[in-house]
Amino acid sequence: MTRTSVTFNLNEPLIFEKSAPGKSAYTLPKLDVEDVPVEEILDSRYLRTEVQGFPEVSEVELIRHYTRLSTWNYHIDLGMYPLGSCTMKYNPKLNERVSRIPSIALTHPLQEEQQSQGCLEILFRLQEYLKELTAMDAVSLQPAGGAQAELTGILMIRAYLTQKGSPRRFVLIPDSAHGTNPASAVLAGYEVISIPSDEKGRIDVKVLAEKMSEEVACLMLTNPNTMGIFETHIEEIAQIVHQKGGLIYMDGANFNALMGYARPGEMGIDVLHLNLHKTFSTPHGGGGPGSGPVVCQQHLAPYLPMPRVEQEGELYRFNSDHPESIGRVHSFHGNFGMAVRALCYILSCGREGLKELSEMAVLSANYIRRRLEEHYDLPYDTPVLHEVIFSDKRQNKKGVTTLDIAKRLIDYGFHPPTTYFPLIVQGALMIEPTESYSKEELDAFIDAMIAISHEAEEDPEKLTTAPATAKLTRLDEVRAARSPILRWEP
Ligand SMILES: *Cc1c(COP(=O)(O)O)cnc(C)c1O
Repeated sequence: MTRTSVTFNLNEPLIFEKSAPGKSAYTLPKLDVEDVPVEEILDSRYLRTEVQGFPEVSEVELIRHYTRLSTWNYHIDLGMYPLGSCTMKYNPKLNERVSRIPSIALTHPLQEEQQSQGCLEILFRLQEYLKELTAMDAVSLQPAGGAQAELTGILMIRAYLTQKGSPRRFVLIPDSAHGTNPASAVLAGYEVISIPSDEKGRIDVKVLAEKMSEEVACLMLTNPNTMGIFETHIEEIAQIVHQKGGLIYMDGANFNALMGYARPGEMGIDVLHLNLHKTFSTPHGGGGPGSGPVVCQQHLAPYLPMPRVEQEGELYRFNSDHPESIGRVHSFHGNFGMAVRALCYILSCGREGLKELSEMAVLSANYIRRRLEEHYDLPYDTPVLHEVIFSDKRQNKKGVTTLDIAKRLIDYGFHPPTTYFPLIVQGALMIEPTESYSKEELDAFIDAMIAISHEAEEDPEKLTTAPATAKLTRLDEVRAARSPILRWEP
């Protein structure tokens, strides 16, 4: 084994179990102002008397408890995190530093426009860069993530078509799409028609032409698609859809495959979203804040969420005078901290740097593909961009599945890649290395994958019982999903 598990395996009880009556993590001096009983200020209805089972621990116990727990986490600063489609790249600490500058971090969102010119400029400049990178005309930074951005974009398409006479009824979505795509289309009131992929892993253009009609509002397309494959027929696809008065929504969550090389506005895309928390290096995972700007062509601009951040002479301002807008999709101005990080990332990379990072992301994925293709089944032999998909077809002959391979990777000290997605590849292992790993790190990952493929041949039980070194070994995933215990009870 080339590496061992890097996490620190201490046994640590729940904080509730460490509790002892009377311990406290803080002491405050007695108030030196007149002591007004709290009941006189607040209605007793709002006062809690006791929280059942509330843990009582000292400060040092509290700190050590959470510090120990933090060592059980696998994270991007600890090692490779090759989750396909999720773009788990390294987030430069400079972005964090800048986003914490007090005049940026502590500005209240209700502060007057004149007093928040700097913050407005940050939003405005980010909008301009995103327009430039995508060759689009207008943008909203409001949506809090990819899924919400998709809903926003589809609602804009709905508003546009409604104004033209009819919102139409269907949305076409390739069978390789991210699960959020059909969900967003349905939420926006559409019925989904699935378009199959051809033997190369691309959208089947013939079927698309058959399904396209004047009842179809739009095609939702991911490019490169979730197989990491570029839709080379994009111009023909756009023509087919536009001829019948439909629009094209592009899911641009994984823009580090294209950035600096190809611009959706030049491919016939009408509206797309970007995930700042993927491509533009803001930390994500664990449901933390995200940001999914929606970028569109001029004909959709009137429908963007408002208020919009605009420049008027020397001043920046919020403009709510957009009567055709679909309205607000987020309180205030979206997740502002994400915008700060993304702008900082764009400025610190520069034009050449952004282009180079796309190159590195694509090179890393193809390096992994090349070195592993002898050992793992490649469902499509089409060249890939930023991610590569293998399947467990070969290992399956020994009774080893994708899940076993993923669990065994934990023993080698790596976070497993995305598994069983996209659904059209049976036993998919979807690997996205991103641009932020050295060749040595990529080689260590590849060597672990190769060692695992040998183990599958020679000692399959090592895989089917893995992980052996993790704090918790094989979990009952079905029971964990069906009857989770989410709350500790005294
Ligand atoms: C991550 C992702 C999404 C969803 O983005 P969230 O911010 O998680 O809502 C949509 N499409 C693709 C292709 C993605 O990779």
